[in-house]
Amino acid sequence: MAGALDGQVAVVTGGSRGIGRACAVGLAREGASVVINYTANAAAAEEAKKECEAAGAKAIILQADVSDAAQAKALIETAAKEFGKVDILINNAGINRDRTIQRMSVEEWDTVVQTDLSSIFYTTNAALGGMRERNYGRIINISSVIGQMGNVGQANYSAAKAGMIAFTKTAAKELARFGITVNAVCPGFVETDMVAALGDDIKTTLIGQIPLGRFGTAEEVADTVVFICKPSGAWYTGAQFSMNGGQYM
Ligand code: NAP
Repeated sequence: MAGALDGQVAVVTGGSRGIGRACAVGLAREGASVVINYTANAAAAEEAKKECEAAGAKAIILQADVSDAAQAKALIETAAKEFGKVDILINNAGINRDRTIQRMSVEEWDTVVQTDLSSIFYTTNAALGGMRERNYGRIINISSVIGQMGNVGQANYSAAKAGMIAFTKTAAKELARFGITVNAVCPGFVETDMVAALGDDIKTTLIGQIPLGRFGTAEEVADTVVFICKPSGAWYTGAQFSMNGGQYM
């Protein structure tokens, strides 16, 4: 069956688990060839690859730490070499190291900012040359509701995620004339390993702050990402897709 993304090539950073894996599988279902990036957990990347292949797509795994400029550049270059091009870039890889500002170490600050924010400059910078040549590209940055509203104990994470939104707007303005759209998806709390690491009492408190009364699913986020990549999303650029169960309006 023909998919809306047949013939397109997508790179998903952190595509091995959680939201990234759901994006990789969602894009694969629409016919895109998918590059699954991870940094540490090779077994999870293998599972993600199998899921993409089960959806009928070509998929490869590329290990790279996207917080490192050289590795992020090599990721995009290798992806383009393997599949001939990169049409879709999902900047999803992210981590958190939560602590109040007074207790936060410089290392905790730097690691989160490098991984969540600097990485998207590295990958975008590497991908946009080919996108410009073909006059087509879809770049989606997975930010967070925390980048929109702030949160106690997340100065590093909130600053990085807010930075992603500002980067998205600038990139959207710079790249629109080359047929490249750049959008931010800002999920609220989503049931992944990242949220599983929180204590039960914290989860109960958080759910109490969400009018729809539940966390989101990775698939719900992926559905929005796929929508933006398909022709249905062609007129969006520089947008923030807020999806958080009503926690922040
Ligand atoms: P997750 O389940 O913890 O998965 C994180 C993914 O990123 C894994 O594939 C991981 O690979 C990869 N990764 C981490 N550091 C990396 C690095 N330096 N280089 C390459 N890959 C790296 O996270 P998630 O909950 O799906 O979150 C995905 C994104 O959504 C993040 O940017 C997060 O901030 C954002 N987000 C999440 C939520 C939420 O509630 N879960 C809400 C809003 C936004 P390894 O397994 O190899 O480490």
